[in-house]
Amino acid sequence: MTEDGIFGDLGITPFRRRVSSGRPAPHLSLRFDSHLFSIDTSRSPKGSVQPDAYLITHAHSDHYGKSAMISPEAVASRETARALEIRHGRRYEGRTFPVGGSILVDDLEVVTYSTGHTIGSVAFGWETDLGVRVLVTGDVKNYENLPKCDLLVTEANYGDPWDPACRFEDDIVGFGDAVDAGSTFGAYAFGKAQRAVSLIRALGCKDPIGMDGKSLALTRELLPGFGPFSPAEENGTDLNVVTPWELSTIRSKRKYVLTGRSDLPFAQIRISDHLDFKGLMRMVERISPKAALVYHPEGRRANMMAHHLRELGMASISVSEIEDSF
Ligand SMILES: [Zn+2]
Repeated sequence: MTEDGIFGDLGITPFRRRVSSGRPAPHLSLRFDSHLFSIDTSRSPKGSVQPDAYLITHAHSDHYGKSAMISPEAVASRETARALEIRHGRRYEGRTFPVGGSILVDDLEVVTYSTGHTIGSVAFGWETDLGVRVLVTGDVKNYENLPKCDLLVTEANYGDPWDPACRFEDDIVGFGDAVDAGSTFGAYAFGKAQRAVSLIRALGCKDPIGMDGKSLALTRELLPGFGPFSPAEENGTDLNVVTPWELSTIRSKRKYVLTGRSDLPFAQIRISDHLDFKGLMRMVERISPKAALVYHPEGRRANMMAHHLRELGMASISVSEIEDSF
């Protein structure tokens, strides 16, 4: 199936920029009406085609905000902009909006919707001159806030229907038991650490949470009302959230990792920042698009999810099936 068949009627052309080696740059751009929007992509070099906006869905490094953030054309939520500044030690030069607010790109209103994936993560939605509603989700944990659309551009982190690892439930009970017992949790400094802190407070625990330097800086800034926090080595209680790499340096009777990685020598508790496959399908059903473009992460899972949606009768391609480039 060619993309012309899907996107021609919608008046939207997906493109990928090529880097000098000829490989496509991450992730993609959409051309429609007189606009070119780049999505979760690195900055185009001077002299090449420039987009009207670099839409940054959230501050995880595989969405390339580190590169796009220094463009005045960057568009990100206030929290995403701040997280990028803390993570990368450089100034965010683009424009910001509150999560759930809207922002004008030229004369076009782009509306944003929380996706619950990280603090500040959003989906971007807009309507073209032809009245086609486009929604770009980035990574999603909670689709309840997302509107219906005609073209859905979405993620496939757990999008392979034939991979058992793509079906799971969060182990909130196991996590709660470990919090009650006093434990040290290994979690990535941006995203998972704030999810752990939010859950610890939601469970009713008011103890100080010990954190490593980077996690502490990000959490104090992004979850200011969720303290008390302290540096992990000074924490008086046995409750800590540190990066997986620092887990071995903390003296604690109980240690768990909250990642899906199995190469770390600690027990795992499954707490994901993503929808699993069933969740992704419920999201697609709710949004009920005419067409879907599965864009992240590139590779097998995006290909398999696009294939599965085609089997269900929906016009769908993955990012690696985009043929046009610039
Ligand atoms: Zn992410």
